[in-house]
Amino acid sequence: MANRDADRDAEFTDDFALAGTPDAFQRLWTPHRLAYVSKGQGQVTDEASCPFCVAPQRDDETSLIVARGITCYVVMNLYPYNPGHLLVCPYRHIPDYTDLTVEETAEFAQLTQIGMEVLRDVSNAAGFNLGMNQGNAGGAGIAAHLHQHIVPRWGGDGNFLPIIAQTKNVTGTIGDMRQIIADAWETGAQRFREQQARPMNEREA
Ligand SMILES: [Zn+2]
Repeated sequence: MANRDADRDAEFTDDFALAGTPDAFQRLWTPHRLAYVSKGQGQVTDEASCPFCVAPQRDDETSLIVARGITCYVVMNLYPYNPGHLLVCPYRHIPDYTDLTVEETAEFAQLTQIGMEVLRDVSNAAGFNLGMNQGNAGGAGIAAHLHQHIVPRWGGDGNFLPIIAQTKNVTGTIGDMRQIIADAWETGAQRFREQQARPMNEREA
């Protein structure tokens, strides 16, 4: 009887055992934060200390890369505003959108477009926020290496958590999302390229 009482007490005093709460703690992403940029902007002093330069040198799973192009690649954002939040980066360590070559600009744009298609495929994204923060004054987390955000949006996804808890309730682990997006990438990319190759009047709406 004593044991049963102890179990019951444990059940009601351990937050992680209460239905609905464990995920709120697991989705804070703090371990990733440490692995990514533990000392903030100041630690990115050159290419060797730049996470966007280092990432492509490791395997996709370790670096959370979902697709590699010729001049640019796509990686999961470790601070997702929403599940599936992607970043498109040139391989070159350049800070500014105007630094991209013509070839890089084209692939940067195409990977963004394919990223949108794939996120629609895997998560029924209803909208997107796309954008680049340029320079420290522009709010870039890592200003030294250009990156474009692709944030999938769904109706009603904005909630009170960022305001009251300064965090975001993100569904699914980042590793799981990477795998799902990476697995869907080639199919989405193929369909996108075929669609682009068609004359305008033969394209699907
Ligand atoms: Zn870099």
